[in-house]
Amino acid sequence: MNILADIRDLFFPRTCVCCGKLLSSQEEGLCISCMASLPMTGILNAPGNEVERRFWGIYPIERATALYYYARGGLVSNILHGMKYRGRKLLCRQMGRIIGTELLGSGFFEGIDFILPVPLHKNRQRDRGYNQSELLARGISEITSIPVVTDVMRRIHNNATQTHKSAFERWDNAEGLFDVTERAHSLSGRHVLLIDDVLTTGATISACLDALKTVDYVKISVLTLAWAKS
Ligand SMILES: [Zn+2]
Repeated sequence: MNILADIRDLFFPRTCVCCGKLLSSQEEGLCISCMASLPMTGILNAPGNEVERRFWGIYPIERATALYYYARGGLVSNILHGMKYRGRKLLCRQMGRIIGTELLGSGFFEGIDFILPVPLHKNRQRDRGYNQSELLARGISEITSIPVVTDVMRRIHNNATQTHKSAFERWDNAEGLFDVTERAHSLSGRHVLLIDDVLTTGATISACLDALKTVDYVKISVLTLAWAKS
């Protein structure tokens, strides 16, 4: 199909992030059969859905949704692991384009002015070389043409990896995790979409909401690639 892609694959064979199978030149990140097996939530833009209800009583968000269910050891956990720890930057953007494409016809993006990826702490971003949520956001932006904004919110604490902590400890650990910069006033009266790779307890997103609520009349929606439904 594409000779350059074929030559690239000959010298640098690419494998599916989920099953490890060699990818064909037409496949990106994951193979067609893993792609077809991903567990979709089917929530799309349903008002009052379970993801949205997570934030009721915390902040009056406009909308919230997640594309896939996350399960430990499942296909989606392989994708998240590849995005975060294996440097699969193209995969991050590809997943963003998939989110954008899946939700485009649902009305979920209507009225949204800016896309805000959940920031990494600057030390973490320096070590990793990128922010997976920002690349997701850029993939979504490619489909929706909604601009990505990265200079309005900062992660002020570099909290250690949270995987071994209980849900309660994780929640506690997220308090005061972010603040907003002086540029955040430009969000006043606008509708912003917060993007993260995975929603677990909701503590990280809630900490973002906490920081953003200092902006006057900002409207906020939430979108994650995956949701660890408990
Ligand atoms: Zn596969």
